[in-house]
Amino acid sequence: MEELYCQGCGARVQTDDESKVGYAPKSALQRDEIVCKRCFRLKHYNEVQDVDMTADDFLNMLHEIGHKDGLIVKVVDLFDVHGSFIQGLNRIAGSNPIVLVGNKVDLLPKSTKLNKVKNWMRRVAKEYGLKVEDVFLVSATTGVNMKEMAFELERIRKGKDIYVVGSTNVGKSTLINHFIQNATEEKDVITTSYFPGTTLGFIDIPLDDRSSMIDTPGIINHHQMSHYLSKQDLKTVTPKKEVKPKVFQLNEGQTLFVGGLARFDIEQAKSNIGYVCYFSNDLNIHRTKQEKANELYEQHLGDLLSPPTEDSLKSWPEMVKETFKVNASKKTDIVFSGLGWVTIPEGEVTISAYVPKGVRVMKREAII
Ligand code: GDP
Repeated sequence: MEELYCQGCGARVQTDDESKVGYAPKSALQRDEIVCKRCFRLKHYNEVQDVDMTADDFLNMLHEIGHKDGLIVKVVDLFDVHGSFIQGLNRIAGSNPIVLVGNKVDLLPKSTKLNKVKNWMRRVAKEYGLKVEDVFLVSATTGVNMKEMAFELERIRKGKDIYVVGSTNVGKSTLINHFIQNATEEKDVITTSYFPGTTLGFIDIPLDDRSSMIDTPGIINHHQMSHYLSKQDLKTVTPKKEVKPKVFQLNEGQTLFVGGLARFDIEQAKSNIGYVCYFSNDLNIHRTKQEKANELYEQHLGDLLSPPTEDSLKSWPEMVKETFKVNASKKTDIVFSGLGWVTIPEGEVTISAYVPKGVRVMKREAII
């Protein structure tokens, strides 16, 4: 059989084993646009089928880019920059130049100072040992700054191929679709979905006669909340439009629950101050007393405190606690990877943050 590749996920198409990557029934090979069964079901029925691949398989595939000659476009989710960073990209990229793209800028409140965010992103890149040529803040869904970015990429790539890399769910597929639609007339060239890990291979999309844009497999970051959520809960947790900050005036001994996904305790504080929550507008934030919090969680996880709902609850990890002393003359964010963050105003406080075991929680200088 001639080698065929799925136009949805890039996997090599095979007709032998339905449980393996790239399976398509023989009849599918007659179509003009060949997609594997998994992408077909995803596209037409929004239904996800599991495949036998691990996060490491994806990461190994990505190492190929170090042997290529092109421009690397690293996409991160502005709503979870650290969580969506690929560890070790500096080594993987070889000597290829890199630009950093912060996607989903439409989610940040309108009042956000984008230049400040850009400068902060440069510093984050440095932390990861990445030297970046430029930083762009874009929205692949609304198109904000996409034209400007395309224009600059054209200049920076000097006729070479563009490799687009990113962890799952950063909006890489949406971004490439938008980019290609502007350059050509094609619609929906690749699959986009809520499901982490959709792109299985390298997908080559011609930009002109001599060069291409190449979509690479999305890397799964296990420390992101999305990894523990059902498809339905992921929809609730993923913000769809500008996030409306919610302010809570809290004293020592008070607790916030973000659904049943995260918990934020004020362990020590000299006074009552306003904490600003940045989460999907669809998420419920519940205030209670610290002394009642454990009981509330035990009795009401899944109803009053939800998501997680049914499917996520089947294998819901225990909550673990991390305590942060904030002694800041500047505002600080406590970030729940893949969920959002709480901004602590200037001052001296001790906070405990609870997340499902395996999910990362961290402190950073406030970005807004
Ligand atoms: P991939 O896994 O990186 O290829 O991500 P997808 O392109 O499938 O997008 C993941 C989710 O993020 C989908 O629900 C998209 O609709 C959403 N998304 C992608 N780009 C943007 C954006 O610029 N803004 C917002 N708000 N959502 C986006």
